[in-house]
Amino acid sequence: MSSILLIYTGGTIGMVKDDSGALVSFNFDSLIKEIPEIKKFAHTIVTHSFEVPIDSSNMQPENWMDIAEIIYDNYDAHDGFVILHGSDTMAYTASALSFMLENLSKSVILTGSQLPIGEVRTDAKENLLTAIEIATTSKNGQAVVPEVAIYFEYDLYRGNRSTKSNAEDFEAFTSPNYEVLAQAGVKLKFNKNAIYTPNEKPLKLNKFSNNHIATIKLFPGMTEQYLFSIINIPNLKAIVLETFGAGNGSTQIWFIDLLIEAIRKDIVILNISQCEGGAVAQGKYETSSAFKKIGVVSGKDMTYEAAVTKLMYLLGTNLSTSQIKKQLELPLRGEISED
Ligand code: ASP
Repeated sequence: MSSILLIYTGGTIGMVKDDSGALVSFNFDSLIKEIPEIKKFAHTIVTHSFEVPIDSSNMQPENWMDIAEIIYDNYDAHDGFVILHGSDTMAYTASALSFMLENLSKSVILTGSQLPIGEVRTDAKENLLTAIEIATTSKNGQAVVPEVAIYFEYDLYRGNRSTKSNAEDFEAFTSPNYEVLAQAGVKLKFNKNAIYTPNEKPLKLNKFSNNHIATIKLFPGMTEQYLFSIINIPNLKAIVLETFGAGNGSTQIWFIDLLIEAIRKDIVILNISQCEGGAVAQGKYETSSAFKKIGVVSGKDMTYEAAVTKLMYLLGTNLSTSQIKKQLELPLRGEISED
């Protein structure tokens, strides 16, 4: 009989309306009562709830650390892990956990829902029950999905490739630059070629200790003062630069000069595209040639969520700035496509 640790952090799945009509989190016991089906599983399900469940818009790196520590401390006691989480920042948590949990060889599946579990048309039950099923699926004693993934509305996505792209549809997530890891129909169909192959090393817990980063989403008409004020934020260590198309931006002299000034101050600049699909290709157009020349790092096809959390992770290590820049361009947990 396999054993699952079910971690409840909050989110719509366990919410009820308060007196003003706003959705607020409610306790885990009430949530579990809504899913009597859970008892039919032939698995042992151990539960752990955040003392105060939260809307995921309130998730902070400290909360990611709490989740990672719970998994790390209970790693040997369970075959897989399911995290109930709000959908708003689920892709950030999944990306962060993928960097925190190095050498993972068991499933860590995040799920939630668009409608609370108490509602008649809720998507919560299917999401939760299938996430448990996936997290317990093994072959020859090895988890079939040994990675951090998001299960939502019949699809399983690599966590650090996913993004919340719809606030209304039951199908809330997409993984624009990577195939789905599995699809749930009458059978669970695993996309074996897309799933990570684990190594034999023991699980390592990486702590996040640096969030001195900023993001700049380019737009036509951005002023010099705007960019100047960002690069002069005290202690700033990195900027995620969200560029146009295949990694392009303005060629105005003041713009490039300010980026050069930032790089001289040892600030890492990571270029990712505002487009969900496709990749940054610095040097493809004249409007990205300067980025390549001055040392802006290409984030290739990384999601915004993976870019932010990968920077937080790398800045928290004792790697030098040039080592961090190299690591940013390599797939550490399958978050970017190989060239
Ligand atoms: N605001 C909610 C949250 O992220 C939305 C959801 O769960 O779908 O916690």
